[in-house]
Amino acid sequence: MKICRFDDDRLGLVEGDKIADVTAVLDILPAVKWPYPPGDLLYTHLDAVRAEIGKIAGRAKRVPLRDVALKAPVANPGKIIAAPVNYQKHIDEANADEEINRGTQVHAIDRYGLFIKASSALSGPAGGVTLTFPDRRIDHELELTLVIGKGGQNIPEADALKYVAGYTMGLDMSVRGTEDRSYRKSMDTFAIVGPWLVTADEFGDPSEIGFELKVNGETRQKANTRDLIFDMPKLIALASNAYTLNPGDILMTGTPEGVGPVEPGDVMQCRIDGIGEMDVVVHGP
Ligand code: MN
Repeated sequence: MKICRFDDDRLGLVEGDKIADVTAVLDILPAVKWPYPPGDLLYTHLDAVRAEIGKIAGRAKRVPLRDVALKAPVANPGKIIAAPVNYQKHIDEANADEEINRGTQVHAIDRYGLFIKASSALSGPAGGVTLTFPDRRIDHELELTLVIGKGGQNIPEADALKYVAGYTMGLDMSVRGTEDRSYRKSMDTFAIVGPWLVTADEFGDPSEIGFELKVNGETRQKANTRDLIFDMPKLIALASNAYTLNPGDILMTGTPEGVGPVEPGDVMQCRIDGIGEMDVVVHGP
């Protein structure tokens, strides 16, 4: 099942080049009062939501995919977790590029752990990215991204994929410089997620997934998740040892080689096998 959020907080089931508008299923979500429970309600109740979608999708109104504004498939992630330097060839290119390494040796993820992008950085395909500091180098980083479906702590690697609601694409936009990652990668719109969630049962094994990013038609990044240094079960285990994972938490798994700067007017054309394609426009400030 491919689930999307579109237009004015509408929920859709993606079927080829059409979307079935299944917004009515949101009525089954409980009305909550402050203080809100942790997690994104859609993901806390995803099993019930999916069952309801199955009941009403057949008679739902269809709209052409090209006519809607796609939003990130998670509205309120508690946190956006990201993996640094998780592909060897990206480590190599970082060590060869002083604008990235700033004169220090770049090691692999085992030396750094994970980092957090501000949840206020979340954007979707329709919103694109806005370059907050246009005088600085700002790079694209396309990453296979997962959304947590079941919360937990200290999740063993062997069970980790059972905690995944589904998979999507993430662009971990990054200002290059000396500041901490959580600052350089947390500007508004610097976490673009979309174009929809492919549920884990439909997506299957995430360990050998090809993906590609082009800018204005020119290939910049082309890689496969088989080359991850820490694979997805290990990332989930590592994250859950540090912080409680909640439904709707987003995990970006790391970027491969080929990172590079974007400018206003560029279009980042992203494709991940098993998910689809999304075009993301780069806006000036
Ligand atoms: Mn990244």
